[in-house]
Amino acid sequence: MTDSDLLIIGAGISGLSMAHYAAAAGWSVRVLEQEHRVGGCLHSHRFTGALDGFWLELGAHSAFNSYGNLLAILESLHALERLRPRAKVGFRLFANGAVRRIPTQLVFSELLLAPFRLLGLIKTGRGVAEYYGHIVGPRNYATVFEPAFSAVVCQPADAFPADALFNPRPRRKDVPRGFTLPGGLQTLADILAGSSGFRVELGRTVNDLRSQGERFVIRTDGGDYTTRALCLATPVAVTTRLLQPGFPELAEQLMEVETATVETVGVAIPKSRLNLPQVAGLIGRNQPFLSVVSRDTVPDPSYRGFTFHFRPRRLDEAGKRDCITRVLGLSNDQLALTNVVSKTNQLPALRVGHVERTQAVDGLLAGSRLALTGNYFTGIAIEDCVVRSRQEFARLQRELETV
Ligand SMILES: Cc1cc2nc3c(=O)[nH]c(=O)nc-3n(C[C@H](O)[C@H](O)[C@H](O)COP(=O)(O)OP(=O)(O)OC[C@H]3O[C@@H](n4cnc5c(N)ncnc54)[C@H](O)[C@@H]3O)c2cc1C
Repeated sequence: MTDSDLLIIGAGISGLSMAHYAAAAGWSVRVLEQEHRVGGCLHSHRFTGALDGFWLELGAHSAFNSYGNLLAILESLHALERLRPRAKVGFRLFANGAVRRIPTQLVFSELLLAPFRLLGLIKTGRGVAEYYGHIVGPRNYATVFEPAFSAVVCQPADAFPADALFNPRPRRKDVPRGFTLPGGLQTLADILAGSSGFRVELGRTVNDLRSQGERFVIRTDGGDYTTRALCLATPVAVTTRLLQPGFPELAEQLMEVETATVETVGVAIPKSRLNLPQVAGLIGRNQPFLSVVSRDTVPDPSYRGFTFHFRPRRLDEAGKRDCITRVLGLSNDQLALTNVVSKTNQLPALRVGHVERTQAVDGLLAGSRLALTGNYFTGIAIEDCVVRSRQEFARLQRELETV
């Protein structure tokens, strides 16, 4: 059996950042990933053939100069110069069959009182609908803000905790405000996985884990591993399933976290076939999709790309294609000719009271060499994942140093 100081399950940004911190501290680190690709939700589909060089984001699309922990990792890997600014194009709403500018949808009389409604209003303990609905007014919330927040969190936003969104973080002035990399955000994962210091094994699905004396034993379809410390960096539903047999109390806490599914379809289309204005994306109001993310933020001379994030189980494949052709103003024949890629994404559906649950989880982890990281702690953004990994690694380090 192969042994390590730390074995990490999952090579998304949570697992890779955890691996980075541990390897930088001199630990022997191994990452097991079930896919034949690193990145998880950082998934830039790179076309080949006639579209060689063109890519589309099937998952995360935006990273910002407020992602300080992520940027510090990239800096330590001498990769900051690879960041590219995203072109400044705006989002629009898609509602009642047409693309609409957001200000035309706002009721300004309702917004006038917003600064006063903010006074003394506490975010903690309130859902997005309750908190932001109160600030912007019921009509603005229903017509613009609810669809916009749902697009941001890639799931219906009403019950999402308000304090898990838009928390101010310091911005780095030496980095573009919104950035990507050549080849898309997948390149972030590629850079981390390619850095020396730890090893990523692809195509390794973990099926079972046990604590055995001073070691954990990890069972995969390609053999068994032992490790001194173990970190699960898998989506919350997978983490719950893997913890169930050996760590039922932790599993019981995590079982309460629901999962939101997003049915994602990306299309690449020759520029000449489109009349749609340049957009960063479209926010769907009363649509089968929550959002459409565009590649116009990284313009290409020949193609434009659009990633539709559909609500789950609303449309079959043909229905999705119809929707895409309608929204982009194409004929069915045109879409049939173009390149279409699909993916199912999963995100935690956080709810008010989640902070107390994560505190209970941390209480159960205290004193153990088992670590949990992911997008189901403080928030779902890339930076939230890196922050969690950093904190969990610091705790593990304390646990192992006291042994
Ligand atoms: C559509 C979408 C758009 C988003 N947009 C943004 C954005 O613009 N900006 C932003 O900051 N954030 C965005 N996010 C959120 C952010 O991308 C994610 O929260 C974050 O990338 C999650 O990283 P993770 O490593 O925790 O989980 P994941 O990325 O889900 O990684 C988990 C990994 O574990 C692997 N795995 C699962 N089971 C096993 C197993 N049994 N054995 C081995 N490996 C396993 C998976 O294959 C996967 O690679 C978006 C998310 C989605 C879905």
